[in-house]
Amino acid sequence: MTEAPTPKPGILDIAPYVGGKSKIDGVAEPMKLSSNENMLGAGEKARAAYEAAIRNIHIYPDGRASKLRAAVAAHHGLEPERLIFGNGSDEVFALLNQTYLTPGDDIVTGQYGFLAYRISALANQASVRLAPEPEFKATPEALLEQVTERTRIVYVSSPSNPTGSYNTPDEIRRLHEGLRPDVLLVIDEAYAEYVTEADWETSFDLARTSQNVVVTRTFSKIHGLGGLRIGFGYAPLKVAEAVDRIRLPFNVSVPGLEAAVAALGDEAHQKASRDLIQTWCPRLTQSLRGFGFDVLPSAGNFVLIRFKDVETCQAANDWLNQKGIIVRPVGGYGLPECLRITVGTDDQNRAVLDAMSEFAAR
Ligand SMILES: *Cc1c(COP(=O)(O)O)cnc(C)c1O
Repeated sequence: MTEAPTPKPGILDIAPYVGGKSKIDGVAEPMKLSSNENMLGAGEKARAAYEAAIRNIHIYPDGRASKLRAAVAAHHGLEPERLIFGNGSDEVFALLNQTYLTPGDDIVTGQYGFLAYRISALANQASVRLAPEPEFKATPEALLEQVTERTRIVYVSSPSNPTGSYNTPDEIRRLHEGLRPDVLLVIDEAYAEYVTEADWETSFDLARTSQNVVVTRTFSKIHGLGGLRIGFGYAPLKVAEAVDRIRLPFNVSVPGLEAAVAALGDEAHQKASRDLIQTWCPRLTQSLRGFGFDVLPSAGNFVLIRFKDVETCQAANDWLNQKGIIVRPVGGYGLPECLRITVGTDDQNRAVLDAMSEFAAR
């Protein structure tokens, strides 16, 4: 007999997720460029829908998310019954892990893959197999090499966070073709709307014609609704139906559902958000490189700077903090010499560049 309730094996081995910092001592309103949020905020239409929803917050949400389901299906040309809605796409990953993993199974993802996939896999007593990313990119070959008999799910994000790399349709196809049909391939497209690269495309078509591919999207990034927690997966019908058996019935809130529908219809806000990133992501990259920093190419709304060592990285982080700018150290991803900086508004980006040019000249 033990003295106190004991979590199941593995739970206490999970490192707690540490989100982007949001405060600096002594700074009233820091610039928070640490969580890849939309620095333009939510669009006016989404805000209005959120405010209007206050009339109905005593009513349980529609558990099928019918209105949002129809809106997403129409917007992307997808079959509504194949959609899974979650409390952020994080919940979609957790639901897939909970539906498909038994103790001793494993998931495969890239060495620098998003941490959310791993946490719930470990909670299901599965293990995580990481494919090396020497070029900061998860390749089909390296991922397939990690697949074992016990692999049930392979996760890739394209574009990927925090590296900013992406996979071409040909790479995704090679990965898919190399997998057993009983292994689920989850392609996380959280940053899809920002991509300008001509050799990227969504995997919705692959998912449509496959029995084992899920594509996820989120309202947290371009739609600026990170605080409301809404994401979705487009899955084979059998997968969507299986997940629906364990999904909590009211996992997306009334204001969340309303705001997401409005956001999807707000083309102007999506365009303004996309334009901001597509203007500034290359500009930040080039300017920072001009100051002598090693900046990885990014297809997302953030840039990743690789410093020459961990000390310089920490010094740069402290320097930015002193200027009231919060960025994201990514030691938790195994990149302790890197800082990830979310692309912000014009003023914020200029402040970052000023601070980093002073840091380089110091
Ligand atoms: C931000 C992000 C998401 C979105 O997560 P939500 O739970 O939908 O807010 C998903 N995947 C990656 C790689 C991300 O960076």
